Amino acid sequence: MPRPAAEFSMRFLRFWLLLDKLTGLPRREKTGMGIVVQKFGGTSVATAEKIHFASRKVIAAKASGHQVVVVVSAMGHTTDELINLARQVSPNPPKRELDQLLATGEQVTIALIAMAIHAQGHDAISFTGAQIGLITDAVHSKARIREIDKRRIIAELDAGKIVIVAGFQGINEHGDITTLGRGGSNASLVALGAVLNAEVCENYTDVDGVYTADPRIVPTARKIDRISYDEMMELSSVGAGVLQTRAVEFAKKYNVPIHVRNSGHDRPGTWIVAETSSMENIAVSGCALKKDLMRVSLKNVPDRPGIVARIFTAIAQANIVVDDIIQNVLDDGTANISFTVEHGDVADLKPVMEQLLAELGGAAAYEKDMAKVSVVGVGMKQAAGVAGTMFKALADQKINIQNISTSEIRISCLVSRADAENALRAVHTAFGLDQPPAA
Ligand code: ADP
Ligand code: ASP
Ligand code: MG
Repeated sequence: MPRPAAEFSMRFLRFWLLLDKLTGLPRREKTGMGIVVQKFGGTSVATAEKIHFASRKVIAAKASGHQVVVVVSAMGHTTDELINLARQVSPNPPKRELDQLLATGEQVTIALIAMAIHAQGHDAISFTGAQIGLITDAVHSKARIREIDKRRIIAELDAGKIVIVAGFQGINEHGDITTLGRGGSNASLVALGAVLNAEVCENYTDVDGVYTADPRIVPTARKIDRISYDEMMELSSVGAGVLQTRAVEFAKKYNVPIHVRNSGHDRPGTWIVAETSSMENIAVSGCALKKDLMRVSLKNVPDRPGIVARIFTAIAQANIVVDDIIQNVLDDGTANISFTVEHGDVADLKPVMEQLLAELGGAAAYEKDMAKVSVVGVGMKQAAGVAGTMFKALADQKINIQNISTSEIRISCLVSRADAENALRAVHTAFGLDQPPAA
């Protein structure tokens, strides 16, 4: 018969084990020693040779004493190719079917990487999102992760296996496959890192880390060693495609460090971590560009309380994010409203707008080829003159600013697409972010 104290601890243990089974995302109890979650993006697994190369990094992490979970993207440009294929069959494919199709990309990679690991004499097992109970909401093509049932993953890790998980995919409560938005393997990486209480989430990609700007557009951009979650979140949301915004948001929420590094070598990359006071010494840490924006202008909608709420609620219900909202009230009791959306959302937006205009009156015009250049830095909270420096850099290049928006740590200017890359380079130089020329 157990003594009362022992009985209490048995009860506590049972309670703890029960909680362990529920496995919702917010719980981060210890699961064993040293789990590392590694993610390999599309370019890092683009060919059989690269899959072999990636698998050697995975095996090295295991050999150094870690339990290793690997998240993979579809090979190379597979996701783009599948989207093109779908468009050849239907101009606007049902989102459920598109998810069904796109999820196949990652399923190919998980099997191949598991095979490559086996071929090198190590044990690995691959899982789709559904197989590890990665449950999302029901928003096809932009689903959000709700929970992950980590029991199978833990059991396989404890059996000494390397666990490979398909990124970018999950299932909704009806058992239908969902995908997590472009770049969604980043979200899979961080969510797994959070539920498994990983030491680190390693994001292996085709650049050395996070740079002060996209190095493909700004060759003088510098690699950043450490950047705060907030700065990275802002940079991602205004176009720094190296990490998905949601993934960084998630990493911040669960305090999971992300290490962005190059899959081609072993040198350290960029750590994305909680803000430290020294980060505030720099007014602008980086800049970014969003090139694929469309401006929507609504003309002569009624200027009455509740109209703007009606418009933007309808757009939000279609899961479309809008930005740069401007309203001008006219003398005749109507208003002009403009805002920007990403090109990819226009097909979903147009039917919403048609219905709204039929109900409210007014007209809509769509302008393609808009872009937004932004500067980001936690030090901006204290520094004066950041906006002036940015506007002058654009003026010196004769670039017209069509709208300005800000947050506490970001300033963004809407410019025409034709000016976009020049604008980014000008701003990058103006804030002293260019690396010194090689000696
Ligand atoms: P992966 O397939 O590995 O997920 P992505 O193509 O999604 O790779 O992301 C890496 C790319 O992100 C880089 O090749 C680079 O062009 C782009 N990028 C944009 N902004 C930045 C930035 N600030 N720092 C580094 N890379 C950036
Ligand atoms: N394969 C998906 C994409 O291309 C997900 C990812 O790579 O993160 O967007
Ligand atoms: Mg990516």
